[in-house]
Amino acid sequence: MNVAINIENLVKSFGTKKAVDGLSLQVMENEIFGLIGPNGAGKTTTLRIIATLLKPTSGKVRIFGHDVVTEPEKVRELISYLPEESGAYNNLSGMEYLRFMASFYSNKNDQIDSIVKEGTEISGLEDRLKDKVKTYSKGMKRRLLVARALMIRPKLAILDEPTSGLDVYYAHYVRDIVKDYAERRGVTVLLSSHNMLEVQYMCTKVALINNGRIVEQGDPKNLMEKYSSSNLEDVFIKVSRFA
Ligand code: ATP
Repeated sequence: MNVAINIENLVKSFGTKKAVDGLSLQVMENEIFGLIGPNGAGKTTTLRIIATLLKPTSGKVRIFGHDVVTEPEKVRELISYLPEESGAYNNLSGMEYLRFMASFYSNKNDQIDSIVKEGTEISGLEDRLKDKVKTYSKGMKRRLLVARALMIRPKLAILDEPTSGLDVYYAHYVRDIVKDYAERRGVTVLLSSHNMLEVQYMCTKVALINNGRIVEQGDPKNLMEKYSSSNLEDVFIKVSRFA
């Protein structure tokens, strides 16, 4: 199995604050890897470094063997990133937005059509795709952005709180879609979430981050056994208490 993400001793400082403080991590190809941790633990900062949007202060991050600092273009060809808070282009319709984003990945009309078709299906927005994005609810915008992140079938999808703001039905649907893309369409997934049920259901492996460091990691089932817990939320509370 290939290593999708290799992080060695990553540090990111903002002034005197170390948001990430010596974090090392490996994610294997086709895994759904969940980063969990309290507010301010360093999850988003880590994801943004992997997505080449922030430079590390020190340490090494490689995506399928490509260094995020010295080969950012190569890395960008392999990834898609769903930020925690993001807007889409408000004056485009949902359909125009998907088409515009698809055009970065192909210059052949039939390929663009098939990417957009896939995005349309993932979004579940049907006729509302004809409307301008500025008329969408928060959850509808999120659905459009999730569709944008997956429709190109990236080698690595980096999803920062993918189901935040989604209703119960669509959150459930997104979890199954993400699983399907990992299991059947060759997409490796790194996600962050505060929803422990979601992480337990979706992730093949999880890492708990606290104060910019990994304090525990493993397969959710093994972690529940190790901490004599019936769910991941209980593991999270137990580990965080002593971290
Ligand atoms: P949450 O669960 O609340 O989204 P998180 O684990 O994603 O939190 P980060 O957003 O990575 O946490 O933040 C980690 C730490 O770095 C926090 O103390 C935060 O205030 C700080 N931080 C993040 N970005 C910046 C920035 N641009 N400038 C200064 N400090 C920052």
